[in-house]
Amino acid sequence: MTDKNNVPNVSQKRVKLRRIGVFTSGGDAPGMNAAIRAVTRAAIANKLKVVGIRRGYQGMIEGDFIPLKSADVSGIIQLGGTILKTARSAEFRTPEGREKAWLQLQKADIDAVVVIGGDGSFTGALTMSQEYNISFVGIPGTIDNDMYGTDYTIGYETALNTVVCAVDKIRDTAVSHGRIFLVEVMGREAGLLALNSGIACGAEVILIPESKEQHDELKRFLDKGYKNKERSGIVIVAEGDEPGGALKIAEAVGRDHPDLDVRVSILGHIQRGGSPTANDRINATRMGIAAVDALLDDQKSVMIGLDNGKIVQVPFNKAVKLNHSIDTGLLDIQKMLSM
Ligand code: ATP
Repeated sequence: MTDKNNVPNVSQKRVKLRRIGVFTSGGDAPGMNAAIRAVTRAAIANKLKVVGIRRGYQGMIEGDFIPLKSADVSGIIQLGGTILKTARSAEFRTPEGREKAWLQLQKADIDAVVVIGGDGSFTGALTMSQEYNISFVGIPGTIDNDMYGTDYTIGYETALNTVVCAVDKIRDTAVSHGRIFLVEVMGREAGLLALNSGIACGAEVILIPESKEQHDELKRFLDKGYKNKERSGIVIVAEGDEPGGALKIAEAVGRDHPDLDVRVSILGHIQRGGSPTANDRINATRMGIAAVDALLDDQKSVMIGLDNGKIVQVPFNKAVKLNHSIDTGLLDIQKMLSM
């Protein structure tokens, strides 16, 4: 429940909960700690006890639980990673694993759970809530920003800025040596990080899994560069654009244009870490409070999202089954400006 300014009304008494769990799952993302802090303090403000579940679903199965008090989440809003650790759990994908997790939650008197993660984590929560009487509310935490129903996922903006800073530096070398750099950024199935970082860096070409036509753009750029003897440029490659990623594309470019000095830079895990941006902290804080609010409102299996700046609730089954579509208009902008 929210007031007219869209500020969750945390003081109103609703369903009777005593103890909630909170955990992070899947890939870590900057801002997860800000979300843990907000969930913990909003719950305490509503007289709930809070249990931190460590190491995602694997920790849930093993009963790796710690009580969270207000002081335990002090000084973490600015930290990357997750103080609760995260994991990927094959065991939780099995009915036996989920039964163990359920028994652990019961043993710890946990009535409802906030899960901070991506679509895999929400699929797991949805499956378990269909099998057992337990409410899950999700907070989207993934640097891919690929969840349907929310404009932002926690960590995306920080990762975007990390990529932009790195590519700006790579460009200095590209220009100085007259090289073409293929810079691979994260995004196995989602190219939003690649697309927006490419726009922000003025990349000459952006290759994303959502648009195969971009390979024609790469060909045009390389042919033009060859003829004009203009031999430097940045090509952003989403890791999921092609099996083998930027390395494989560089091999093909090297074969077709042996005269060009082509290099590959794979940004890798630096994209996940670091202190969250102000916006990631603010979004994580708002979503954390809204998640507790949703549980108190007896919501089950919903993800908290942001739609045009407003907090919304999106059913898990929609959030995980539908894709966050790419604004292909951004590709047109990039093409027009990289003449
Ligand atoms: P990221 O976007 O960073 O990859 P994610 O939440 O999508 O985050 P996954 O590795 O896909 O990360 O999922 C996290 C965990 O959720 C898995 O390790 C598994 O324990 C659980 N999970 C995922 N899919 C299912 C499923 N279909 N059934 C049960 N549990 C699942």
